Amino acid sequence: MRQRIAVIGGGPAGLTFARVLHRHGCPVAVLERDPAPDARPPGGTLDMHEGLGQLALDKAGLLAEFRTLSRPEGQAMRILDTDGTVLRDWPPRPDDRANPEIDRGQLRDLLLGPLDVQWGRDATRVVPGTDRDRDGVTVCFADGRQETFDLVVGADGAWSRTRPAVSPATPRYTGVTSVETSLDDVDTHHPGLARLIGEGSMAVYGVNRALVAQRNSGGHVKVNAQFRAPLDWHTDLDLTDAEAVRASLLALFDGWAAPLLDLLRHGTAFVHRPLHVLPVSHTWTHLPGVTLLGDAAHLMPPLGAGANLAMLEGAELAEAIAAGPVDLDGAVRVFEERMWARAGRWAEITAAGLERLVSPDPAEAVAVFDQVQPS
Ligand SMILES: Cc1cc2nc3c(=O)[nH]c(=O)nc-3n(C[C@H](O)[C@H](O)[C@H](O)COP(=O)(O)OP(=O)(O)OC[C@H]3O[C@@H](n4cnc5c(N)ncnc54)[C@H](O)[C@@H]3O)c2cc1C
Repeated sequence: MRQRIAVIGGGPAGLTFARVLHRHGCPVAVLERDPAPDARPPGGTLDMHEGLGQLALDKAGLLAEFRTLSRPEGQAMRILDTDGTVLRDWPPRPDDRANPEIDRGQLRDLLLGPLDVQWGRDATRVVPGTDRDRDGVTVCFADGRQETFDLVVGADGAWSRTRPAVSPATPRYTGVTSVETSLDDVDTHHPGLARLIGEGSMAVYGVNRALVAQRNSGGHVKVNAQFRAPLDWHTDLDLTDAEAVRASLLALFDGWAAPLLDLLRHGTAFVHRPLHVLPVSHTWTHLPGVTLLGDAAHLMPPLGAGANLAMLEGAELAEAIAAGPVDLDGAVRVFEERMWARAGRWAEITAAGLERLVSPDPAEAVAVFDQVQPS
């Protein structure tokens, strides 16, 4: 009998999982809370690492299409001082395809392809049956409906509703918050800023704060203002009032060179994203019928690994299931051990990275890049 498999969440993890299963002819129900693919802005650009996200895309049969969509020039990285001086500049080498960038919306559409996602399915709870072989695992939805599956894969992100079925862990605040804004068509409207940012990313590190600007396709730029602050730093601020948020950020970054502050002055809207993490090396006692992928399993600081890991995990779990449908639980167990080991290493690296990037000593941030960028 065919196993009934569901994945909760249609982000990078869930879609890659479903797409690789689809490639192997295995049916899967993709249950996504958003009412439609473009229900909310997709967020900034993602770099796809050769041995992680690109490997996952290869397993999905999508690497060639990815290469036509992605932006190798987006690998360019420069660091400026708070006075606007360029401290480091790393243009990508010709033919460098190690970490090309892709817009999140483009990646989502690439993964969606022929998948028949069930939009508007807001899962509220996942309940393992008392006799799993007979009862299966029940997913409860906000509209009161319930459905039962043999395997439920929680790929529902940081605030996963699947996670409580296997683990009591909840995300904790890192002490660093981020406010994102964006600029459209910088080459036409803000040519000075376009030159400052270059073809890829530009970062500026000050004392306990940072400004990071990343070029997306079509001259769109995402800017993240990151700073150490208590979680309730904005109690006297209306976060829906763009002018008030802008004024507050300009005060916070006061003294930085005028062109850098222009990134905030010209930003169109502001989204507050406090950075939370799950405990490093988060694991759980294996529970037949339920597992987690991506941020739901190992939320970590946003330092270029989360989506990559999420996608590779999705691809690997799908391949394991497709290879041995007789022992579904055995496949999940082996997968979990592998995911925990790899994600644990990345969680350590990114936790240490965040401490050094948004720190009292801006030289620490530059040193982080000196360690990872080609000389
Ligand atoms: C500012 C920023 C920059 C980043 N940059 C990078 C980068 O360059 N490279 C990189 O690899 N990673 C990056 N990351 C991390 C990356 O975004 C995440 O690790 C990645 O999106 C995790 O994928 P996921 O599929 O596990 O979860 P998500 O992307 O969070 O997707 C979860 C999905 O589940 C759905 N969902 C949630 N709850 C429910 C529910 N109850 N029922 C049904 N559906 C539900 C959501 O709507 C969503 O579609 C960045 C993160 C941030 C915040």
